[in-house]
Amino acid sequence: MSLFVNALQQLRDAASEMKLSQEVVDILSAPQKIVSVSFPVRMDDDTNKVFSGYRVQYNDARGPFKGGLRFHPNVDLDEVQALAFWMAIKCAVVGIPYGGGKGGVTVDPSKLSRSELERLSRGFIRAIKNDIGAMKDIPAPDMNTNGEIMAWMLDEYEHAIGKHEPGVLTGKPLALGGSLGREAATGQGGAYVLEFLSERENLTPSETTIAVQGFGNVGLHAARIMDEMGYKVCAVSDSKGGVYNPEGLDIPAVMVHKKATGSMKGFPNTTEVTNEALLELPVTVLVPSALENQITRDNADRIQAKYIIELANGPTTKEADEILFKKGITAVPDVLANAGGVTVSYFEWVQNLAGYYWAEEEVGKRLKDIMKTAFDATYEKKKSLNKDMRTAAFVVALERLAESIKARM
Ligand code: GLU
Repeated sequence: MSLFVNALQQLRDAASEMKLSQEVVDILSAPQKIVSVSFPVRMDDDTNKVFSGYRVQYNDARGPFKGGLRFHPNVDLDEVQALAFWMAIKCAVVGIPYGGGKGGVTVDPSKLSRSELERLSRGFIRAIKNDIGAMKDIPAPDMNTNGEIMAWMLDEYEHAIGKHEPGVLTGKPLALGGSLGREAATGQGGAYVLEFLSERENLTPSETTIAVQGFGNVGLHAARIMDEMGYKVCAVSDSKGGVYNPEGLDIPAVMVHKKATGSMKGFPNTTEVTNEALLELPVTVLVPSALENQITRDNADRIQAKYIIELANGPTTKEADEILFKKGITAVPDVLANAGGVTVSYFEWVQNLAGYYWAEEEVGKRLKDIMKTAFDATYEKKKSLNKDMRTAAFVVALERLAESIKARM
């Protein structure tokens, strides 16, 4: 299943719903620029290995290109184009002044030593340095990349240009101009979305059961915060599989267990579940927080959750979306639900440009305000269109994108 074909179908569906002009549809049907690089990395055994990387600059009508860099064996141009397009939609849904971009390197980082990972990160930035910049294109962490990698990349970039420019990358460590609250931001934003959804749909936290697929930077913080808010997180998983207890899990204890043993397996009073089985558990809310293409026409019919909060990018295929909608399942789409990460990236960039740093409470409060405004706009649009929330979020975003695109014509 081509992710980009799926993404363009979402665009066309929303476009026909709102009668978007064909000119705008055409502009948004292909990326503005594709940067494709290959670069050598010196391995620990002194050989050189060549890696392929991409930076797709999808659209910058609303502001500089913005989006993460992922290190994963599945990275290819199809995937990066789709992810870059979704960033353009995402930034418009939450109303932050950015376009959309995404990048990645085709690599399994678990096979690299720490120094190989550093040389890969620095090599990739050298390869794309002329295409990025604080007012041009601003990368950030994504799958298998983190603050430490952003620090190496920033250092490499600043050396190349011969001056400081902290706003060129976000998701940096605090010591290099990162923002308080950035690391947990995607999970925190997802937790806010759950809170707003609960208000609208009359869900009581203590009676609301949750399954979270993925325990990386996104899933871990989402499960932790939802648990702290009093929701019953019953299942969590990582790439090796997961654990389930219908009565709820002690999430801080699961975190300790995973840290100590490297996996969730064997956590007391739970049954083991595969990543596929986790999706089909009888819970109130399903929170896919890992890979794309998880809910497809093959398993959509067996989803028992009433609500889905997509913290992964692209976890649901177009065909699955239709099945879920017919089943009456409300899915809060990725472009809204996981926008907390890029929203705090925006705050980080604003702080970098101003050279003035905010307290954590300020970050949290502003994040909640932005997520609330975006959630309400999408929820109202869903009601007025009588459509699913993805179409509604796309319509909200496309109205804003179209305005900026047309204003430049
Ligand atoms: N990688 C995250 C996303 O997919 C964050 C991007 C960013 O902060 O620019 O939304």
